[in-house]
Amino acid sequence: MSYFRAAVDATTGYIPGEQPKPGTKIIKLNTNENPYPPSPDAIKVLRTIDSEWLRRYPDPYAMDFCLAVSEVLGIPADWIIVSNGSDELLNVIIRACAEGSDRPVVYPMPTYVLYKTLAALQPAKAIAINYDQSFQLPIDELVAAKGAVTFIASPNSPSGHIVPLDDLRELAQRISGILVIDEAYVDFAEYSALSLVKEFENVIILRTLSKGYSLAGLRMGFGIANPQLLSGLFKVKDSYNIDAIATLVGAAAIRDQAYKNECAAKIKKSRAKLTSNLQSLDFTVLNSHGNFVLATPPEGNAEQLYLQLKAQGILVRYFKQPGLDDKLRITVGTEQQNQTLLKALQIKVIS
Ligand SMILES: *Cc1c(COP(=O)(O)O)cnc(C)c1O
Repeated sequence: MSYFRAAVDATTGYIPGEQPKPGTKIIKLNTNENPYPPSPDAIKVLRTIDSEWLRRYPDPYAMDFCLAVSEVLGIPADWIIVSNGSDELLNVIIRACAEGSDRPVVYPMPTYVLYKTLAALQPAKAIAINYDQSFQLPIDELVAAKGAVTFIASPNSPSGHIVPLDDLRELAQRISGILVIDEAYVDFAEYSALSLVKEFENVIILRTLSKGYSLAGLRMGFGIANPQLLSGLFKVKDSYNIDAIATLVGAAAIRDQAYKNECAAKIKKSRAKLTSNLQSLDFTVLNSHGNFVLATPPEGNAEQLYLQLKAQGILVRYFKQPGLDDKLRITVGTEQQNQTLLKALQIKVIS
């Protein structure tokens, strides 16, 4: 007999992008981290940590953080659930809502691989519906799959496309389960689906401080939905999922919208430049609304390029799966990092 449940034995687990030790001299464009430092206001709070905050258990609701989100987004604090990265919230949602084949998890493909992994561990049936070439949301098929949970990442990774609000609205209206709109990359996009939480009782929006706020190491994510929908999720989450430090540092970071917007503006500018530079090297590049681009090299030799770049100390993301194995997902770095990457590619492509 195995020590583990069959669902655990049957899964390989989620394989995150490589994380070299901090200080390693590497250009890291593989996990969509923000190349700029976190808000100076957040760092200031971090430096004032009082040991008394650590002696006690933290606030189970991370209310200091909720109040900051409430101010910034204009949403009541009881419409917010805070999590240890938005990955934890994805896990909580699946644990709360999905089970077996009667309560499946549904998502369009390609998308964030963790949805599939978490469903497999539950276990809940996962129904993946392929996007077509134009990345139109396959609404009819998604509805027909009858998910207890339907995940839509918008902007999506690794494609970078954003889903039109009318499509999300139609989907929310037609499905009977919950619609999770994963907005991990919203800070680099032109619009958000936030208004839908007021229109639909089955919609939850997921946000994170990992990408837009340069705080992937802090582990702060949150969900926005009506209190009735959140009540089931609160039962499932760990009581003390957010530590005392993250609550306060996160609150300061999210209050500093000016700094976040300034960094996002730089990244969007660099994204446009990186896109056109890759295109001049004959890469096919999808129009991205995130802090990364999905690029197909002219020779289709993505894996080889990935390995060559890695040998030179430049990490990008390569997904060895159908539909993606001829492409590279490249995080938008600083101008200097992008230039180094382009120079390395230029030599490869020409030789
Ligand atoms: C990065 C990412 C997340 C997870 O972010 P964390 O808050 O760091 O857990 C969730 N969804 C998508 C689509 C992402 O790319």
